[in-house]
Amino acid sequence: MGKNKQQQQVRSSHPPVVSVLGHVDHGKTTLLDTIRKTTQASREAGGITQSIGASSITIDHEGKKREITFIDTPGHEAFSNMRSYGVNASDITLLVIAGDDGIKPQTKESIDIILKSGLSFIVVFTKSDAPGANIEKVKQEVLKEGILLEGLGGDVPYISVSAVTNQNIKELLDLILIVYDIKETKKSDEGGFLGVVIESQLDKKRGPVSTVVIKKGVLKRATKLFLGKEEVGSVRALFNTEIKTVNEGYPGDAVEILGINNVLPAGSVLLDEPREIDEIKRENAVISDVSHHDLLKRIQMQSEEKLPLVLKTRTSGEYEAIVSSMPKDVEIIFEGRGDISASDIMMAKDFKAIVVGFNVGIEKQAETIAISQEIFYRTYTIIYKMLEEIEDAAQIILEQGARKMAGKAKILASFEGTTGTIIGIRVDEGRVQVGDLVQKEESEKTLGKVVTLKQGKEDIKQIGKGKECGIMTDQKFDFTIGDVLIFVSNKK
Ligand code: GDP
Repeated sequence: MGKNKQQQQVRSSHPPVVSVLGHVDHGKTTLLDTIRKTTQASREAGGITQSIGASSITIDHEGKKREITFIDTPGHEAFSNMRSYGVNASDITLLVIAGDDGIKPQTKESIDIILKSGLSFIVVFTKSDAPGANIEKVKQEVLKEGILLEGLGGDVPYISVSAVTNQNIKELLDLILIVYDIKETKKSDEGGFLGVVIESQLDKKRGPVSTVVIKKGVLKRATKLFLGKEEVGSVRALFNTEIKTVNEGYPGDAVEILGINNVLPAGSVLLDEPREIDEIKRENAVISDVSHHDLLKRIQMQSEEKLPLVLKTRTSGEYEAIVSSMPKDVEIIFEGRGDISASDIMMAKDFKAIVVGFNVGIEKQAETIAISQEIFYRTYTIIYKMLEEIEDAAQIILEQGARKMAGKAKILASFEGTTGTIIGIRVDEGRVQVGDLVQKEESEKTLGKVVTLKQGKEDIKQIGKGKECGIMTDQKFDFTIGDVLIFVSNKK
């Protein structure tokens, strides 16, 4: 109560929100525990036993009291959901790699998530005290993954720590604040509220309880909350990370909310007004400068040379067996155990991947999304059959990819033109933009280039799926109303 008020008054800046990613057993939980212990020693005996999935710590940094909000290791599916809104709950991610173990499969997954989400990150080599620790060797492994560390050809900050001897724990916290301050991530109390769900569960007594990281605006009691255009309840009660009632939550805070009608998936974005998800994405999408280059390199590599694949298996033994004989033109962008879930499908959508499951099923909601979003998925019980089909799919998809279809549209009407062809079209897939090359569905011959695109009287550059517009091409070509055109992006 009193403390909370005081905190708001002394707060000169909003706290950074930090998440932790990395391979299992690499010390993520221990690191967070140590940070909490070393910074909250003065709190009441026994400390906090309950947790809302996030914690807040205060340290002295360059002569000032500063706060940092830590999110307990979020599931990978949360990142996939966040990406679909173009929002990251955290400002900075710690990529934890054990100094005595190096890069492991989940480290690679974490790197993919970080680069593809455009997150700012710090590489944290943990267990520096362990007898087998060899940080120099692990640094080389990190470089091989395309992450250029500071002083080693790049600018990704790193630090080695021990959660056992407390070596560099305070330095890590300072580094987080330095990275955050350099980025000048200004969080604003002004304007509407935007928050990201990081945890949500059904409490027997209290109903659905959600922990939300506030990105923008001030959250108050009685505020109505929306998920896209759908109202999902209103704030009945708010709690801080110490599970004390608060009246308001500010940017950078993690708060527990009562009053939401449902258990929402982690990564869902909440607003205080109804908005289209696409709109939220346009406004918020960020790509961090640190990883931008790597990100582009990776995406190019992936889309041009390999078929991206999401793989779910029942056991890790099955996973190992499948991976060892996977065709070489396939890149597994995400793998896991258990049934194919909605977040696997969302992940596949983001990366234009296909989803395959071995000895697993698909969850109902995942199936609905896959069908509505036209994401290819398939489950198998025989390994060689699965590999054969993946190989075939890879070839077909990579050949199609070479054609790089950006959009597909139907001709609805034609108009008189002197130089080029002027037609009215409806975009049925992808998008159409000025500069695209036009082909017929059945042939790869280029018929012309889109020179103007008009929606009503207005000249526009690009138009999306489901919309109608008029286009003019630089050359005339023959067509009949009802023909389907393919638009190929023309990078030059
Ligand atoms: P997580 O799965 O990434 O959350 O990993 P944990 O935090 O559970 O740690 C896995 C194991 O590593 C535990 O047995 C820890 O005691 C040990 N561990 C974690 N941090 C350190 C460290 O800094 N030094 C040493 N020597 N062991 C550590």
